[in-house]
Amino acid sequence: MIEIEDLHNKQTFTKEYIAEMLSLSGEKRKMMLKEAGEFHVKQLGKKVFFRGLIEFSNYCTKDCYYCGIRKDNRDINRYDIDDEAILNAARFAHENRYGSLVLQSGERNDSMFTERIAKLLRGIKKITNGELGITISLGEQTREIYKEWFEAGAHRYLLRIESSDEELYYKIHPRDEKHNFQTRLNCLHTLKELGYQTGTGVMIGLPFQTYEHLANDLLFMKELDIDMVGMGPFIEHHDTPLYKFKEQLWPLQRRFEVSLNMIAALRFVMPDINIAAATALQAIDPMGREKALQVGANIIMPNITPTVNRKNYLLYENKPCTDEGADDCTNCLKIRIEMSGREIGFSEWGDSKHYKKPLSIPPKVGRK
Ligand code: SAH
Repeated sequence: MIEIEDLHNKQTFTKEYIAEMLSLSGEKRKMMLKEAGEFHVKQLGKKVFFRGLIEFSNYCTKDCYYCGIRKDNRDINRYDIDDEAILNAARFAHENRYGSLVLQSGERNDSMFTERIAKLLRGIKKITNGELGITISLGEQTREIYKEWFEAGAHRYLLRIESSDEELYYKIHPRDEKHNFQTRLNCLHTLKELGYQTGTGVMIGLPFQTYEHLANDLLFMKELDIDMVGMGPFIEHHDTPLYKFKEQLWPLQRRFEVSLNMIAALRFVMPDINIAAATALQAIDPMGREKALQVGANIIMPNITPTVNRKNYLLYENKPCTDEGADDCTNCLKIRIEMSGREIGFSEWGDSKHYKKPLSIPPKVGRK
């Protein structure tokens, strides 16, 4: 039985207890969410940090069963934004006092790609005087590549485990060398060892997924001692293999509610990590991300991808903000965040308070 008043001081969370938190609905759920918001402010204050998101390419070598930009989807326009446009987006983020940006794309491992990224990272550092924090989310790579990118200036890495349950993982990915659960897990360990602030996450409301799976996902994050989390609702895409399970999914509204429950529960389980208000929340509820900020999330990722390309990075359907420019996003978000009783940490990196640097890593320049 969950006693809402006990949540603030609770030290250990069992799988059963978390599963119960996740399955709450009605009045009790509302009480838990409110409590999570208060706990969050007590732990981390009211500041929310921006990560300008640049989805610079949708070319992908993987075939994940849920994802709209999977290799086998022939029904999309593939794009790759040129370096100059990426640097311009970084300039925009810097000038508009976003503390950081996120570079994300489909997954590629060829040297043309990996070398280009290293060059871009150095370029972004240079044009922003090392003042812009950089998160990258570029999938599974070798230790050498991760190291090269770290040395080039990236200091946070987001690699969602997608599901920490190996059996479920293979229901949503092909079972082959390119989609190996253990490899993904090893990558997370490598990123941590190299000194990245390391983030992971899962999709919520996948076919075959239960509250127990999701509770275990949160315990997985705790055990891995992760610094940041981005997780959001699964939204089916008609050109993907998982679409055939559409009828078996939780209704969208329930997926949304459980996503907020996940954020609130994780805030209690890991009080000092960074939690992102995932964009997918907004695909279900226009105020989805702001609602997440009120129950434990403290990071928001305004899309600063040049508008012409946005329509083609369709990981899922009804993806928001695909037709407005970056300027519109900033203004609209500022108002929305202030309405949610939060404030924006302009020009601050907003690093995860949970992060502890491995002893061998020298400090980065420009840290704020
Ligand atoms: N190539 C990078 C980034 C992938 S896209 C990588 O491999 O990590 C970023 C995230 O979008 C994925 O990690 C996945 O969790 C999410 N995503 C993909 N398809 C989705 C869908 N149909 N619904 C919700 N989220 C989805």
